[in-house]
Amino acid sequence: MQNTDTDTNDGVYSRVKYNFQHMTEATIMIVDDEPITMGVVQFFLEEFGYHKFVLVDRSVEAMRLIEETCPDILLLDLLMPEVSGFEILSAVRSHSRFKHLPVIILTASSDSEDKIRALDLGASDFLAKPVDQSELGLRVRNTLAAKSFLDQLAYYDPLTSLPNRRMFLEALDRALREARRYQEGLGLLSIELDRFDRINDTIGLSAGDEVLRQVAHRIVGVIREVDLLGRVSGPNAESEKNLFRMEASVFSLLLKRIRGTEGAAIVAGRILQALRPPLVVEGKEIYVTASLGIATFPVESDDGGDLLRLASSARDYAKNNGGDTFQFSSSAINSMYEKRLSLENRLRKGVERQEFVLYYQPKVDVGSGFIRGVEALVRWDSPDGFVSPGDFIPLAEEMGLIVPIGAWVLQEACRQLQEWHRAGYPDLSMSVNLSVKQFTSPDLAAMVRRCLDESGINPALLTLEITESLLAEDIEEKIVLMRQIKEMGIKLSIDDFGTGYSSLSYLRKLPVDELKIDRSFIMDLPGDKGCRAVASTIIFLSSSLNLLTVAEGVETAEQLAFLQDGFCQQYQGFLFSKPVPASKLFDLLRAEKV
Ligand code: C2E
Ligand code: MG
Ligand code: MG
Repeated sequence: MQNTDTDTNDGVYSRVKYNFQHMTEATIMIVDDEPITMGVVQFFLEEFGYHKFVLVDRSVEAMRLIEETCPDILLLDLLMPEVSGFEILSAVRSHSRFKHLPVIILTASSDSEDKIRALDLGASDFLAKPVDQSELGLRVRNTLAAKSFLDQLAYYDPLTSLPNRRMFLEALDRALREARRYQEGLGLLSIELDRFDRINDTIGLSAGDEVLRQVAHRIVGVIREVDLLGRVSGPNAESEKNLFRMEASVFSLLLKRIRGTEGAAIVAGRILQALRPPLVVEGKEIYVTASLGIATFPVESDDGGDLLRLASSARDYAKNNGGDTFQFSSSAINSMYEKRLSLENRLRKGVERQEFVLYYQPKVDVGSGFIRGVEALVRWDSPDGFVSPGDFIPLAEEMGLIVPIGAWVLQEACRQLQEWHRAGYPDLSMSVNLSVKQFTSPDLAAMVRRCLDESGINPALLTLEITESLLAEDIEEKIVLMRQIKEMGIKLSIDDFGTGYSSLSYLRKLPVDELKIDRSFIMDLPGDKGCRAVASTIIFLSSSLNLLTVAEGVETAEQLAFLQDGFCQQYQGFLFSKPVPASKLFDLLRAEKV
């Protein structure tokens, strides 16, 4: 049931064929008080390729485990202590959810009365103990095939081949139980096409059906894609089973294991985007949009029925607002996303209009007090005023805009450095911050090369700052990337050192030239004993590895005095200067010469 081939008309039959091949994915429960018998049956079935088993030797546990594991077939012993097979069979048949579960009776009893009684209770088939392997294989296979055909009719929508509303309600129930047990988030998206009636009226019913099939196909494409990104639930081949056709043009999507509400918003945005390009139906281009409502567990409710109602009414709200949009069911979350969405739009425009400027903060020699270099710090000069990088860099990272922004920063910083070199400060160095996304972007090397070539600066006077968080994962790969940069003659620095995850043993291996002590360790100097110890240790460590040591965020003369007693070579901070525009920095440089 994994492949949702929405482009074929014969959904039902193709799916049954498909199930047939994937029958070995069935979960088989065996209930028998003799573990040896169960072991033999499992062993036999494994040889046919089955691999999902639930073995139950205490019959009192059977019903609970059926509810928990939702088997596709039950192999049931009749004569057991505690609860008998008959009792389990009748409990299964009167259970609202499992009354159609196929049950094969395993019994040593040749008593035909037992058999008749079991048949009356709804047994699907019998197998005599000791079981014969080929007969076992055949019975299990036939029973599963019949079940999958019936399931198909009962649980799938023949038009789109997607699971239907009935399946959705069961899946929601199960997903909620799992989410509660593992304390995970669950998102429910209700999706409805906008003005589908009009589409049907204009192009006819059969073309309307085709629209639904293609829409289902596109949504499935989005789910696969977000899974690959690991944004929502990690790679998961089962994900497509989480889209359901509820009625006419309404679909439901279950998003399991989401983190916060953000994952749901990302998926919703992608679905809207995926539906925008025209569909081609019977040679005509048709434009469709959808309205989406989102409800999340546990944020908005912990009840399945509630979630469904909340998602549907949020969807209606989105539709009444003109459609082609998504809406959370809670107003607090909505206003958060509205703000974010408007910030996203402004940032996108900001990139188009190049609304960024660079400020520069001096890097000063601790001993002499002279400026040795500068660090370029970007600011966004938005129509609503200056925005500091802390407020837009994380968003730019997420939106993938950091790459064009960062490319501009580096280009501009190199150009500016060349200008200062020509103006009589040929030894001045430039530091530029790189975010993780930029660092791992495949065209980083080419971009850096271009900036060096265009500006003609000496690469040794350029330092790229990376943060420790970059080293949190795949450190060996990162070292390879770092070496590639170093080969161009550029220097590398670790920014905000001490706040991240660097293991000291790796520090030795890293091809870096500079360590910047995070402001948090400087802040409470020299009064705080702990800060003194940490700062001294980092300085000692850095200098024994022959790295240039830079202190960040020096604000007081006392802090500077502490640094002057040790081996810290450079510092930055408001004590000397805040980050300033290029012209102001030039004034600072000139002032030193006088
Ligand atoms: P950072 O690279 O560690 O930069 C130092 C930050 O500390 C700057 O904040 C600076 O203004 C601030 N600062 C410097 N001296 C003092 C001081 O004495 N006291 C206090 N309280 N703060 C001081 P800013 O400019 O807001 O930048 C914040 C962070 O944003 C930077 O931290 C850097 O990680 C990032 N960033 C800035 N520009 C860029 C850029 O062009 N690209 C990327 N990827 N990240 C950037
Ligand atoms: Mg920095
Ligand atoms: Mg820093």
